Amino acid sequence: MQIKKAIKLRAYPGRAQSELLNRHFGSARFIYNYFLAYKTEQYKITGKSASYVEMSKELTRLKTIEEYAWLNEISRKSLEHSLANLDFAFNSFFRKLSKYPKFKSKYRSKQSFSIGSPHCSIKSDGIHLPLIGVVKCDISNLPDNYKLFSATVSRNPSGKIFISLSIQIDIPDPVVDVSKPIIGLDFGLKTFITTSDGVKYEHPKPNKKHQLKLAREQRALARKQNTSKRRFKQKLKTARVYERISNIRQDFLHKLSRKLVGENQAIYVEDLNLEGMKSKFGKSVSDLGWAEFVRQLTYKGLWCGCEIKKIDRFFPSSKTCSKCGWIKQDLSLEDRIWECPVCLTKHDRDINAAINVLEYGRADRNLRTGREDQLLDELCNSKE
Ligand SMILES: [Zn+2]
Repeated sequence: MQIKKAIKLRAYPGRAQSELLNRHFGSARFIYNYFLAYKTEQYKITGKSASYVEMSKELTRLKTIEEYAWLNEISRKSLEHSLANLDFAFNSFFRKLSKYPKFKSKYRSKQSFSIGSPHCSIKSDGIHLPLIGVVKCDISNLPDNYKLFSATVSRNPSGKIFISLSIQIDIPDPVVDVSKPIIGLDFGLKTFITTSDGVKYEHPKPNKKHQLKLAREQRALARKQNTSKRRFKQKLKTARVYERISNIRQDFLHKLSRKLVGENQAIYVEDLNLEGMKSKFGKSVSDLGWAEFVRQLTYKGLWCGCEIKKIDRFFPSSKTCSKCGWIKQDLSLEDRIWECPVCLTKHDRDINAAINVLEYGRADRNLRTGREDQLLDELCNSKE
């Protein structure tokens, strides 16, 4: 099976290269913003959205103007990638998948630019980028046979440079092991996830030392004046502590998702999009890592033959008694343990919910295959 995957490498550019990379980040942002304004303006005048080809022509024209001559010192491929990104953002908007594209900010947006293959390539000591040369990276962990699609260079808030390679590799076809169990998962505020067989995985607790340090650095940052150089330094310091905490979290998610897809043949989860999360946990809760976790489960599951199935997000998994089906309408977020008045079963709130997710998923599946069988029957009968 061929799969696409991204591999992120820490890069160690030299001083001159760092300077060039910074100019590439700035130019990618400039092009994105320039053409966002251009497209918006064109639409107002003509009622039509400028196509990629038109934007590309405008880019060529732009480079001949003296004011924008500096664009000639930037790899054209990276500028085109920026245009393609904008095009993609508009396509998602037109398909109602996202909001109208926003301008990128030097301070708040991710600083990055991309270059497609074959204009970027992998060398023995790093990644070769046009006009920049070979940027040093440790490539010893790259798989043996791969096809390179693109390289995205980014700078994180603490100033580190990374190159993310989008590649295609061959992996053995996944085999579903039917001897492995099928489980359901419940996501919670108290416990990160609870499985239908009663195992609880707590939210990763960042080291207390880091937490305290983050609070201290954030307080210091709040005291610094908005434009001072010391504020900039303090911002870097805060970003570094934050990065350490977020790495611990990512590490936890990767380890747990790998473990679960390795141990099970299928996993049922609730479909937790933003609306679903609001209805389950109230408005104040945004993503606590579940969306990223489900994303990881899904692609890792695909690679090793563990199917991830999402169930209807409006199903009341916490309120339903998993033994008899009675629904406790007045269940509150504080009720950790409750007793069903009908069948007298004592429920741990999270385990009960996870069992329900599993049972609901299974029933829904039987129902669906049942319907398919029925349709097939009808089809066959009508032929006779
Ligand atoms: Zn009951």
